[in-house]
Amino acid sequence: MKNLATFCLLTIIIATGCKTTDGNSTNTMKPTSSKPAYAMAIHGGAGAISKANMPPEKEKEYKAALDSALTIGEQILQKGGSAMDAVTQTIVFLENCPLFNAGRGAVFTHEGKNELDASIMDGTSQKAGAVGGVTTVKNPIRLARAVMEQSAHVLLTGQGAEQFAREKGLEMVDPKWFFTQERWDGLQKALEAEKKDARTGSLESADYKFGTVGCVALDQNGHLAAGTSTGGMTNKRWNRLGDSPIIGAGTYASNDACAVSCTGHGEYFIRYAVAYDICAQMTYGGKTLEQATQHTVMEKLVAKGGSGGLIALDTLGNICQPFNSEGMYRGWVKPGQRYVGIYKE
Ligand code: ASP
Repeated sequence: MKNLATFCLLTIIIATGCKTTDGNSTNTMKPTSSKPAYAMAIHGGAGAISKANMPPEKEKEYKAALDSALTIGEQILQKGGSAMDAVTQTIVFLENCPLFNAGRGAVFTHEGKNELDASIMDGTSQKAGAVGGVTTVKNPIRLARAVMEQSAHVLLTGQGAEQFAREKGLEMVDPKWFFTQERWDGLQKALEAEKKDARTGSLESADYKFGTVGCVALDQNGHLAAGTSTGGMTNKRWNRLGDSPIIGAGTYASNDACAVSCTGHGEYFIRYAVAYDICAQMTYGGKTLEQATQHTVMEKLVAKGGSGGLIALDTLGNICQPFNSEGMYRGWVKPGQRYVGIYKE
């Protein structure tokens, strides 16, 4: 029965061509006669990102960084490396890049600290690891993976997570490593705005730019993996955690359906278990990746007021990157094909 369903799905995909949904529009790629040997998609956050407010130099920097991230993951997948390794290494690169709100370049909390969250999930074993609120671990995605592979747990937070990182020999840094002037200025702006009007300085602010990073990959063995890493939201407090370290909300992967990494206003993504919701619609509702992602991002989240987007990749190599915000830093790669984008198209 399952084989028959897979065969039917495969036939439909081959007949209609391999689709990549991007932003609000659907870009149909050249029909492929079989699924690609590998595929990978990334995001660098969604939000109020418009061409009008983007200096051309900055745009170039973002595009170059996204392109380099794709190269890192693609080189691993090309050589037959695992989806888990591609996701980990690609996110490590994005965490080290100060342009994005993850690792170096993370946003600041109300008290002026960087508290980092990350998660990773293996679609084959469905094992997962996640960390919340770490302040001295250079690459939180590596720690999330260590939690998955070297502990009996899924989610560690705060000082305990840091202690675990030290015990496992992960690279620790002075919190200053994460500092960037731009993010610091962003906090000062939010604090000023909050003094005038509690709402504009809050996470609800309409001109909010997210900047979380994420990656989903399909390797040559047909295995999926997903990962997400973030500094959370500017001016967050009380040890707030968003969706990024929550398996099922910000990150999910299952070889039965797809791999998903989200970015946006985390509270909404937690409430609607967004990453798992995409997989569940495919598994239980028979929806395609495109139908499932469009429904959740463009209908459900829009109706509820949840701003953001996601990247999703299924076992056939279909990629969807919908977002309901003004823009989303994003890209994808398959053998011989590559895309990098920022705004709606
Ligand atoms: N989803 C993240 C959070 O709520 C923020 C982001 O995507 O930029 O913490």
